[in-house]
Amino acid sequence: MHKGQAKKELKKQLSAFFKSMDYISKNFLDSEKMGKKEFQIFFNIYQQLGLAWEFLGLQCKHWDGYKKTRDKKETCKICGKVKGANDFYILLTRKGPIKLGVKVKPSSKKTFETKENAQIVNETIDFYGALVNVDVHNSYKSRLFGKGINMAAERIVNVKEENVECSIDEHLIHIRLRDKDRKAGGKRYGGFPWEIKKKDLKHFPVIFDFDEKYRFLGLTILK
Ligand SMILES: [Zn+2]
Repeated sequence: MHKGQAKKELKKQLSAFFKSMDYISKNFLDSEKMGKKEFQIFFNIYQQLGLAWEFLGLQCKHWDGYKKTRDKKETCKICGKVKGANDFYILLTRKGPIKLGVKVKPSSKKTFETKENAQIVNETIDFYGALVNVDVHNSYKSRLFGKGINMAAERIVNVKEENVECSIDEHLIHIRLRDKDRKAGGKRYGGFPWEIKKKDLKHFPVIFDFDEKYRFLGLTILK
């Protein structure tokens, strides 16, 4: 095919493709009320569109050059790919933050017989080197502790960056520093600050944030 013709044809295909992508992301990925099954179908369509984008993008020679985006990246004026980025199958919206899936929470009051049946999502994404895991499940009967106990319904978000791991659920925010030199199986202790002697507290590089009424606002850990 003649070069000019190939470009014209690709532009036409990409324009139709972006319309489909916008339609799917606007109507379905932003919907909070969608049922799990329905959501899965639209999520699959979105994945397939992501694949189509990759394949259309592979044909693009970025003839018209690049434009600067708000976050100072350069994207192709025709196919929307970031300059210098490797081709891989990824699912991106064209504008705004990258969004994968909708927020899910435990969906049932029932206690399920198995973890598999109670699981709603348990997926990990390696995002530019940071690992993010979302684990959402309904209540289920666990046989982990011999007799069997009911595990509560939960939504747990875990982020790992280098040796720092942060886990967030409904009741706790837990930050764990992984020290390679520390022996496995070594003892761990825990305590509220007022339970620990001042001279021992000085080992902890933690700064508390609070307001004038001593309401807790957060904390900083120095590395
Ligand atoms: Zn291009």
